[in-house]
Amino acid sequence: MPAFVEVILPLNLNKTFTYEVSEHDARRIVPGMRLAVPFGKNKIYTALAIELHSNAPTLYEAKPIDQILDETPTVTPEQIEHWKWIASYYMCAIGDVYRSAMPSGLLLESETLIRLNPDVLPETMELDSDEAAVIEALKKQSSIKIQEVLTILGKKTVFPVIKKMMAKKLVSLEEIVSENYKPKLKRYIRLFPEFENGDNLEMLLELLKNAPKQKDILLQYFQLKASERQAIPVTRLLEESGASAVQLKSLIEKEIFEEYYLQRDRVDFSDRQENRDLQLSPAQDEAFESILESFKSHDVSLMHGVTSSGKTEVYIKIIERVIESGSQVLYLLPEIVLTAQLVMRLTAHFGNKVAVYHSRYTSNERIEVWNQILESSEKAQVVIGARSALFLPFKSLGLIIIDEEHEQTFKQQDPAPRYHARDASIVLATYFGAKVLLGSATPSIESYFNAKSGKFGLVELSERYGNATLPEVSVIDLKDSYFRKKMTGHFSQELIEGIKSALDAKEQVILFQNRRGYSPVLECMSCGHVPHCTQCDVSLTYHKAKGQLRCHYCGSSMAFPTHCHACHSPELQTKGFGTEQIELELKEIFPSAKTARMDQDTTRGKFAFEKLIHEFRERDIDILVGTQMLAKGLDFDNVSLVGIMNADTMLYHPDFRALERSFQMMTQVAGRAGRSQKQGKVLIQTYNPTHTIVRQVTANDYVPMYRDQLHERHIYHYPPYARLLRLTFRHRDYDKVKEAAQWTANVLRQQINIPVLGPEEPTVARIRNEYIRNILIKIPQETPLSGTKKTIQRILDSFESISQFRPVKVTVNVDFY
Ligand code: ADP
Ligand code: ZN
Ligand code: ZN
Repeated sequence: MPAFVEVILPLNLNKTFTYEVSEHDARRIVPGMRLAVPFGKNKIYTALAIELHSNAPTLYEAKPIDQILDETPTVTPEQIEHWKWIASYYMCAIGDVYRSAMPSGLLLESETLIRLNPDVLPETMELDSDEAAVIEALKKQSSIKIQEVLTILGKKTVFPVIKKMMAKKLVSLEEIVSENYKPKLKRYIRLFPEFENGDNLEMLLELLKNAPKQKDILLQYFQLKASERQAIPVTRLLEESGASAVQLKSLIEKEIFEEYYLQRDRVDFSDRQENRDLQLSPAQDEAFESILESFKSHDVSLMHGVTSSGKTEVYIKIIERVIESGSQVLYLLPEIVLTAQLVMRLTAHFGNKVAVYHSRYTSNERIEVWNQILESSEKAQVVIGARSALFLPFKSLGLIIIDEEHEQTFKQQDPAPRYHARDASIVLATYFGAKVLLGSATPSIESYFNAKSGKFGLVELSERYGNATLPEVSVIDLKDSYFRKKMTGHFSQELIEGIKSALDAKEQVILFQNRRGYSPVLECMSCGHVPHCTQCDVSLTYHKAKGQLRCHYCGSSMAFPTHCHACHSPELQTKGFGTEQIELELKEIFPSAKTARMDQDTTRGKFAFEKLIHEFRERDIDILVGTQMLAKGLDFDNVSLVGIMNADTMLYHPDFRALERSFQMMTQVAGRAGRSQKQGKVLIQTYNPTHTIVRQVTANDYVPMYRDQLHERHIYHYPPYARLLRLTFRHRDYDKVKEAAQWTANVLRQQINIPVLGPEEPTVARIRNEYIRNILIKIPQETPLSGTKKTIQRILDSFESISQFRPVKVTVNVDFY
C-alpha cells in the first residue's frame, strides 16, 4: 500500500501538502516530526508532518520527501491543534502560523544562511569530514547558504549535518538579532552560607570586636536584609554604612561575606535561589483564596487589582501551587522589556525553574528553551515571555497568567497570524485543562464583561500593598492657566511647583506625553503650508536634536527646512508638542535636575530601555519624560509625582476604544506614583477638566467607566456585543484600491445580512506609497461566527479570481483591535 504524509510548509499557503514516503519511513514518522521536503524550484523546506495516510493527492503527483529530520516529534499534538485553530479563527494560512511559531533555527531551508560561531574553536574539537568541510568553507566566507552546503558536501540533504553542528554550537544562523544578550553584571554581597541563618551572629560580632568599622558594615547588612528582603548590591551596602571598599574587602577576605554577580535577564538563572519566603498581606491572601475558589467553577479568572496592589505576589503564590503538582506555567507579559524586572522577582522564588522566551534571544537560545519545555525539564517549569511564548511545546500546562491583560500589544497586528494572545491562550488552556489567570488594574471592557456575566471568575484586590495609598489626582485647566498667563512653556504653575517640591524632597517625577519628537506639525506662518511625507499622507514630525523632519509611518526623513517649500518664507512655526520638547523645557526650568526621556527614539539601542529603567531605579535620574512605555507595569519606589502633560490628544482619538484606552493609560501612568510609604500625587493637564473620563480617572472609578463604555458599545454594536472583522486593501494605484474595496463591500452587503461599514480611508490613507481602504464588518454576538467567516472567505476567494484585483493586497484582521 502506498504511504503518504500530510505536511504543513512554512509558507504563506493555507493548505497542507501530500508527500510520498517509503514504507520504512512511514513506520518511523510520527506527527509532529520535521521533514525536509522539496517544494517549488529546487528548494528544500522544513515541513511539519501532521498525518500519515494512503490517499494519493488528486491535483498533483506526490513528490517523495527528502529526509526525516527528527527522531522524536519537535511539535506536540496540542500545538498542531492550536495552530489549526489559530489559522481558522484568525483566517490566515496555517503555513504562516507554523512559520511564526517555530524558532527559525528549527526551520532550516535551502536559503538559510549559516555562519561560524565566533565563540568556538573548531581546532579543539573532533570533527567528522562533513563538518570539517563546512568549517573550511566558512573560514573563507562569513556566511553561506545551506543550498551551497549541498554542493560542498555533494549530498542530497544536509539538514542533519547542520543540525548536528548547531547542537555542537559550531555554527549558528545568520540572523539580525544574533547579538548575544549580555547585560552588564551587577555586584552583590551576601554572608557566607554558614552565617546566613544568623545562628553564628554572636560569634561573628565577637570576631570583629576590634574592627568597629567592619562590625558596622555587618550590622548595616542585617538591617538592609531585614528591611528590603532582596539581594543587596555592594554599592548600596557601602553607601548605607559609610564604609570604604577596603574595609569591605577585608570582610570578604575573612570569608564572612562573599561577592556574587547577577545578570538581569539571562537564559540561565542558576544563581542561588534566595527563597525569600513570601508573606501575603491579608488582602492579597484573600485574593489568593478567591482565585483558587473561583478556579473550582471557572477556567478563566480575572483579577482586578489596583496599581501596586501586589498582583505579582499573588501570581507567585498561585504558581507555587501549580508547579508543586509538576505542571508547567506560562506567564505572558505585554512587552519584552518588562521581562528583566519580572525575571528578577520570579527567580528569587523559583530559581532555576524560570525560563525566558522572546524574540530578542538568539535562535539557539530559543531552541534551548523549546527543547527544555518539550522534555518537561524542571529548568523551564515557569516560562516568561511576550505573546509568541504561546507557541511553545508545552506538555503539561497547568496555568497561564496574562499580566496587564488589557494591553493591546497582546494582539499581533502585522504580519499574519493576527492573533490575540489572551484569547488564543484561553483556547490553548482547554487542551490541557489548564487555568487562565488574567490580571489588570484596568481590565479591558471585554474581559470585565466576561467576568461580570459569569463566564470568567472575578477577584477584586482593591488596596495597595503595604501602607501605600492610591495617589491623589488633581486636574489642571489649561484654558484657564493660559488665560491667566500662568504657563511656562507647556508647564502649568501647579505642575512646576509640584516638581519643585518633589525634587526638594529627593523624590522622583514622571511626566507623560504620548507623542515623541519635538512637535508633530511644522507650519508656514505666511502661507499655512505643512510639510508632509512624500510617501505617506501624514505631516512630518520635527525632531530637534537631529535637526530633522521625520515620518513616523515609513521612517523617512529630511533636513529641517530653512524656508517654506511652498512660498519660501523663513517663518516656520511648530504646532503641538512631543516628549523631546518637554525634556528641553524641563532643562530650562530645572537646570540642575537630571532628566531623561523614554520613548521609541531613546530606546532603540539594544539595552537602552533596561539602562533607563536601571538608572531611574538607582535614582540617577530625577525626572523621566516618556510616552505610553511608562504605563506598562513598571515598579519604582521613589516616584512621588506623575504629571500628564495633556490628556486631550488621547481623548479625541477617532476610535471606539479611545475613551477606554485613555482611562487605562492615565490610570496606569498615575499608578506609578506613591508606590511605597508616602501618598503620591498626580497632575493631569487638560483643556477639558470636566470630561467624564478625566473625572473617572481622578476618582479611580473603574466600574462607572466600564458601565458608560459598555453602554456605548451596546448602542453602536461594538465588542463585546459584536465581533469586528476588518478587511484592509492596499495598492499603489489609488483607483484600483478604491474599486477593489468598493466591489468587495458591495458583494458583502449582498451576501451577508450584518452591518458592513465602509470602505473608508483610514486617518493615514497612504503609507509607503500604498493607498489604503478599510471595510469593517460587525458580526453580532448571536450570529454564528464560523458561517459568516466562511462566506467572507468565499467572497475573498472570488475577489482573488478577478484579474484586475489580484495585485491588490488584502489582509483580514479578526477581532481587530
Ligand atoms: P502591581 O503589579 O499590582 O501593580 P506589584 O506586584 O508590582 O503591584 O507590587 C508593588 C510593590 O509591592 C512591589 O515592589 C512588590 O515587591 C511589593 N509587594 C507586593 N506584595 C508584597 C508582599 N506580599 N511582600 C513583599 N512585597 C510586596
Ligand atoms: Zn509658506
Ligand atoms: Zn512616510
